[in-house]
Amino acid sequence: ESYKRIGEVEDKVQAFLTLDEERARETAKAFDEKINSSEEKGLLFGMPMGVKDNIVTKGLRTTCASKILENFDPIYDATVVQKLQQAETVTIGKLNMDEFAMGSSNENSAFKKTRNPWDLDRVPGGSSGGSAASVAAGEVLFSLGSDTGGSIRQPASFCGVVGMKPTYGRVSRFGLVAFASSLDQIGPITRTVEDNAYLLQAISGLDPMDSTSANVAVPNFAAALTGDVKGLKIAVPKEYLGEGVNEAARQSILDALKVLEGLGAVWEEVSLPHSKYALAAYYLLSSSEASANLSRFDGVRYGYRTPDPESLIDLYKKSRAEGFGDEVKRRIMLGTFALSSGYYDAYYKKAQQVRTLIKKDFEDVFAKYDVIVGPTTPTAAFKIGENIEDPLTMYANDILTIPLNLAGLPGISVPCGFDAGLPLGLQVIGKYFDEAAIYRVAHAFE
Ligand code: GLN
Repeated sequence: ESYKRIGEVEDKVQAFLTLDEERARETAKAFDEKINSSEEKGLLFGMPMGVKDNIVTKGLRTTCASKILENFDPIYDATVVQKLQQAETVTIGKLNMDEFAMGSSNENSAFKKTRNPWDLDRVPGGSSGGSAASVAAGEVLFSLGSDTGGSIRQPASFCGVVGMKPTYGRVSRFGLVAFASSLDQIGPITRTVEDNAYLLQAISGLDPMDSTSANVAVPNFAAALTGDVKGLKIAVPKEYLGEGVNEAARQSILDALKVLEGLGAVWEEVSLPHSKYALAAYYLLSSSEASANLSRFDGVRYGYRTPDPESLIDLYKKSRAEGFGDEVKRRIMLGTFALSSGYYDAYYKKAQQVRTLIKKDFEDVFAKYDVIVGPTTPTAAFKIGENIEDPLTMYANDILTIPLNLAGLPGISVPCGFDAGLPLGLQVIGKYFDEAAIYRVAHAFE
């Protein structure tokens, strides 16, 4: 069914970089034989699944949408992919993204531009644009994305689907190609909150292969979907409804709050005073980490190598110059500069201090409230080409999603309305490891 739908719409949507049809059909056939047997079945038995192309899959091309990894076939599976196999999903293929997950529109992919299924002239968001578009277009039921500064929630919002960025440490990062290791998290993108809860359940948990994965019990997330939000305390940061957030987005949140109020929840306005520094701190920290993480792509160990190097140094230089796209180079240069001696204290250290203040803002609010609610993005999906020449406007897209990555908190985007026919998302932010509360609110409102 998935491949039939892909045959119908993929020409237009362009969500996939690689399809794994032969293997998927074999798996599906084996499942067909199992379906009527009394054998025990996996949690997500038979569900068609897409995986973002920065999550490694054994023997299945993994490019991070970069020329530098154009021919890279990993020799192992990421922990999340192994867990999906245990849950018995069927992997349909690998999904397009911004190169190395840097971007907010999928326009930074070296290979193709994924389009928004709601309006093919618009971007699907990014960097997990292929993951969100494939679910929205009905090509797969579930997908995995990764979120460093909003890359699951922003495309979910633009494509009218549900996207969860779990607490840092909830899901193993083993086999996720690192962008900014202290911020990256893998998470589920689905049509409904219920599907999302099941998929997160399947991929969560401590992993000996990732020392930052947390030894915290994984609850039955679906059990939180009772519809009961009576007495729940919701905080609405005034910074999230202020300047830059358009009227339709603001109104859709106020309408959603009315619905939640009708169900017995209470909400109040609060302040996260350091939010205004989040964007600057994020781009400094994430680029610093990226400059270190991406040094492994040297033309020797993986992927692309320049054809005629004059020396070893020349081989490094040319392979990287020819293999990386503009945005990736921009971040590596910014990060290398921020970490260079003499500038470290002024930039990197300062940004780390801001990060601590942002974390503290959230802790203060969560001392009194159960969840935080606001828009996911300041506007609905923009047009392809509209922001690509202007990196700062592009970066501003993440203004509402970034703060919680800096703090390591979990957050979801659920569809909450439309602006001129384009979907808008509501963001629910929860306490550390309290994804259950987020699902409870998102589901009650859905
Ligand atoms: N758009 C942000 C960036 O370009 C977020 C990326 C992400 O979350 N992977 O860095």
